[in-house]
Amino acid sequence: MRKPLIAGNWKMNKTVTESISLVKELVDFVKGYQETEIVICPPYTSLWVTKELIQDSNILLGAQNMYFQDEGAYTGEISASMLQNIGCHYVIVGHSERREYFHESSREVARKVCQALSFGIKPIICVGEKLEERESGTAKEVVKEEIEAIFEVLKSQDAVEVVFAYEPIWAIGTGKSATSQDANDMIKYIRNLLQQKYNEKIAEQIRILYGGSVKPENIKELMTESDIDGALVGGASLKALTFSRLVKFRE
Ligand code: PEP
Repeated sequence: MRKPLIAGNWKMNKTVTESISLVKELVDFVKGYQETEIVICPPYTSLWVTKELIQDSNILLGAQNMYFQDEGAYTGEISASMLQNIGCHYVIVGHSERREYFHESSREVARKVCQALSFGIKPIICVGEKLEERESGTAKEVVKEEIEAIFEVLKSQDAVEVVFAYEPIWAIGTGKSATSQDANDMIKYIRNLLQQKYNEKIAEQIRILYGGSVKPENIKELMTESDIDGALVGGASLKALTFSRLVKFRE
């Protein structure tokens, strides 16, 4: 049984002061709730204070990105050991905003996956197609290519440690979610690729999230689908009450 995972990606939002109030409220709203694994990914500047505030709670810490080198002259970058030291359990890698605005290649994303795993941090690997790719019928090819770059480096003994997030780019921040059937269809396809590469047992253990305009109004329907194991949430993770309603989608 795969435990549902709801992860909040705050992106470039929330000062330290704002983070403190959001985290305090969230800790309260989800107190004692164990049916969902809860992860929040604040900006780097808020990681430490967030870590302090969630210490005795059921919320885990994630980062939004990291670099694949160990250390050194990489101005502005953050390493896996820094994230490990601060207490991050997860790190988002290959978000479409990073691929698009910062020109991250699938090869770089794969290197980040390896680096995160070697420091015991679980990568949440984002994949997904653009609108024109969906419309031209190449969505699966695009996703397959992104996944195959990961397969080149991901060994079977590590595969169960990763989480995938299928995020169609046209659904991110647009208010226009994929239908639950379309999301499930792609996620099943990804699971099938995992099964071919590794084996059925491994594929059945790996969590695959959906991301793209997830909100309290559509989470229930998405979560009734066979293969959707949770959500990577942007906008709706910035309000504690809204995010807690996503966490408690079963209620
Ligand atoms: C995201 O950034 O990963 C995301 C899914 O954003 P939103 O929920 O705002 O569409």
